[in-house]
Amino acid sequence: MTITVLGAAESGYGSALLAKKEGFDVFVSDSGTIAAEYKEKLEEAAIRYEEGGHSMDKILRSELIIKSPGIPERAAVVQAALGEGIRVISEIEFAGKYTNSKTICITGSNGKTTTTTLIYEIMRRAGKSAEVVGNIGQSFAQAVATLDKQPDWYVIELSSFQLDGMFDFCADIALLLNITPDHLDRYDYRMQNYIDSKFRITRNQTKQEYFIYNADDQQTMMNFPVKKIEATTVPFSTKGFVLKGAYFDGELLHCDGKSLLAKDMIIKGEHNIANALAAIVATMKAGVDFEDIKHTLQTFTGVEHRLEKVAEIDGVEWINDSKATNVDSVFYALGAMTRPTIWIAGGTDKGNDYTVLKPLAKEHCKALICIGVDNTKLMAAFEGIVPAVYDTHSLEDTMRVAKEIAVEGDTVLLSPACASFDLFKNYEDRGRQFKNGVMSDASLSMVR
Ligand code: ADP
Repeated sequence: MTITVLGAAESGYGSALLAKKEGFDVFVSDSGTIAAEYKEKLEEAAIRYEEGGHSMDKILRSELIIKSPGIPERAAVVQAALGEGIRVISEIEFAGKYTNSKTICITGSNGKTTTTTLIYEIMRRAGKSAEVVGNIGQSFAQAVATLDKQPDWYVIELSSFQLDGMFDFCADIALLLNITPDHLDRYDYRMQNYIDSKFRITRNQTKQEYFIYNADDQQTMMNFPVKKIEATTVPFSTKGFVLKGAYFDGELLHCDGKSLLAKDMIIKGEHNIANALAAIVATMKAGVDFEDIKHTLQTFTGVEHRLEKVAEIDGVEWINDSKATNVDSVFYALGAMTRPTIWIAGGTDKGNDYTVLKPLAKEHCKALICIGVDNTKLMAAFEGIVPAVYDTHSLEDTMRVAKEIAVEGDTVLLSPACASFDLFKNYEDRGRQFKNGVMSDASLSMVR
């Protein structure tokens, strides 16, 4: 059987490797430039590839196409393949066929990486054989292809793009953390399409499998009744008691008669309580002892670029939340602020509506420093709401302004609400440059 893999980055390379290992005739096609690292790896594995365009006749002769998550469904090559009746699936769907390991799958608009990491840490602490894969790092397919011994559990972070090409895959434990607008450009600007994509995580599940969902999430709850879910459903809530699930009573996190004090957790904010509740239920359903869960939650410091405390210098706290690339994550970041805040935001706008942030910005922010090629929309949204709004176009300028205006007792928060691609390579690059900027003259007194 001939397989074409579309896209040659982490997901595509993993798929190609697995397809080759399973004895398929595999070809990789990428319309852009393939990163040197993946080219080398493909050559090493003797996998044929092309870049800078698609050889349509060749691709349309394949019997199966594995599409990388970055390629939209509407791409001409995908449409042409579907038109020819060729099956187009995601890497997760493909990899799932070649392992018997159990899976814990995590999706949501926000909190995926934090919750995935937390679940993985708990599983490891409990001595379970587990690997973490998916949107977070190494692809699922690569792990299936290369690990000498398959783990008992895969903890898989899934974006909606990965869910889209899943048809027969069935998660043993599925988590849907929340649904708020994101990536709508890939869903014909129809929220319902994006919601439907997220609910695919529970597809094919039966009573033996678990579907863990957020009972506080409006979109989840509105769509729940029409989704005909067959799984054993388990809710979690930060707003109070839920039957047969996990909940927060304002002080303690509860699950199955066990509890843990929120103030003993290092990660802060209501959103992190939600993430912790989701991780607690998932790992309890995977058979983990509560003591291991508790210990992990009391020592877990969070993931880089997610409300990461960088330093406290001359009484000013610096927080890197570069991963906040949408409005909802900034909503939680601003809500978690306890000191007068200098908020740094901006970048590539994804069709943002800033309305929900206005009351929080008014309450917490003494200044907004916009950082982007074009700050017009952001500035217009917050002028008159935040006392001072600055227009900057480079990180150097942003840091200079922040250091000039910050006084003892303030927090400086980078929480952009936008993608980073106008000025940075990616959100990691943005976060690291920010951290370097904070620390560059940390030994000196603040420039004032
Ligand atoms: P994802 O992998 O879904 O992008 P992350 O864990 O990387 O999620 O967090 C992304 C951003 O969203 C960070 O700014 C983080 O502080 C914020 N965040 C984390 N968990 C949640 C949640 N449950 N709800 C809303 N925002 C969240």
